[in-house]
Amino acid sequence: MKRLAGCRSHVGFDHSWYYASGQALAVSGPLDGRRTADVCVIGGGYTGLSAAIELARAGAKVVVLERYRVGSGASGRNGGVLGMGQRKDQDDLESMVGLDWARHLWQLSLDANALVRSRVKEFDIDCDLKDGELTVAHKARHEQSLWDYAAHLEKVYDYGEVAVVSRDEVVAQLGTHTYYGGTLDRRAGHLNPLNLARGLARAAISLGAEIYESSEVMAMDRVGPHHVVKTSAGEVRCEHVVVACNGYLNGLLPAADRYHMPINNFMVATEPLDEPLASSINRDDVAVVDTRFVVNYFHLSRDRRLIFGGGENYTPYFPRSIEAVVRPRLEAVYPQLRGVGIDYEWGGTLSVTMNRMPKFGHVGQGIYYAEGYSGHGVAMANLGGQLIAEAILGRPERFDQMATLKQRTFPGGRWLRWPGLVAGMLFYTFLDRI
Ligand SMILES: Cc1cc2nc3c(=O)[nH]c(=O)nc-3n(C[C@H](O)[C@H](O)[C@H](O)COP(=O)(O)OP(=O)(O)OC[C@H]3O[C@@H](n4cnc5c(N)ncnc54)[C@H](O)[C@@H]3O)c2cc1C
Repeated sequence: MKRLAGCRSHVGFDHSWYYASGQALAVSGPLDGRRTADVCVIGGGYTGLSAAIELARAGAKVVVLERYRVGSGASGRNGGVLGMGQRKDQDDLESMVGLDWARHLWQLSLDANALVRSRVKEFDIDCDLKDGELTVAHKARHEQSLWDYAAHLEKVYDYGEVAVVSRDEVVAQLGTHTYYGGTLDRRAGHLNPLNLARGLARAAISLGAEIYESSEVMAMDRVGPHHVVKTSAGEVRCEHVVVACNGYLNGLLPAADRYHMPINNFMVATEPLDEPLASSINRDDVAVVDTRFVVNYFHLSRDRRLIFGGGENYTPYFPRSIEAVVRPRLEAVYPQLRGVGIDYEWGGTLSVTMNRMPKFGHVGQGIYYAEGYSGHGVAMANLGGQLIAEAILGRPERFDQMATLKQRTFPGGRWLRWPGLVAGMLFYTFLDRI
């Protein structure tokens, strides 16, 4: 099998179960000729679509340019876990930025979760949204930490949605003895990510935004008071630009590129399981994530497939066989599925930052970006787009809360920019195994 280059939005997008079973979406083809707009959004994932919705709702003229297809980046390929909190736990954030700031960040995560839920409702997006995320300890010592963290959230953040789950109950819910105890967050959940992205695109269009697919932005110039955003066949003259390219940024905005590193993560979908088997491996139909550094995450699809994610690499290429990476992880969790048919295998590129918190920024006059959700972007990228829209509309307070979070840049080139960092990732991956 030919090695697939990751980090390109056209590579492997159509290999996923989400794509094979996804709802249709009609949008315009390549941008052709000149347009004027108040805002040009680059990137048709959650960040870009979310910004487009808020801006168009406020009456702005918005043009979205997507290199390949709506949702062809991480937004249409991910594990669908609608998480709570930030990628970093609150106790880490307290040490990093102090309690007051950590409280703001917690509130933003509540807002992010509520935003996705309200959009699904408002725009009637059929994306199989289900409640419940079970976090399970893959080492004995992680069990107590999870339970302590649930108590901390209740005490310090008045968040009572996380239930402690014993090891016996994990076995009863998941039908595996691999894990120790865990916690169940009832406000987190799972959804079909591509159908969410396509639903958001429909919503943006219904509010007046124009979306062009197959429209790769090659350059941005400043001409007088305007930005001119150029594709191979057209251009958009506008006042503001939203750069929403995340792991697929590829050097388009050097100021943003320095803060993130693209990494590839891999997923499979099994053949449909019969009903008794499916309910024996996920009785309550929740999202499951474990406490590994390179996390395993899984849930059941609408047609009772096990959608299982796990395994990553730090090069510009996908492995020759993604199944060969993910199947051993799946079978280690569920030995009863040894030999199960794998109908789909795919990968996607996400963007991580040094401290695993997203990077929001503002460059020159009117160029905004948000990136680096570090594998926690289903909720946060939706919020990211909304905060950029608020800033453009003259309400920058929440955007500024995120933008002032200190981030270190990655020295060196784009891929393997810092061999030490890659070595660090591999070291933690090794720790997962012992
Ligand atoms: C395999 C995988 C599993 C994941 N699982 C989860 C999960 O379970 N839960 C969770 O919370 N997060 C998860 N994530 C992360 C989450 O998917 C992302 O954080 C989120 O989708 C980021 O959205 P985005 O819109 O910022 O970026 P993307 O969805 O990546 O969108 C960027 C878009 O920009 C376009 N683009 C790039 N350059 C240009 C250009 N020059 N011109 C025009 N368009 C351009 C790309 O084609 C792409 O469509 C996962 C990610 C991956 C890859």
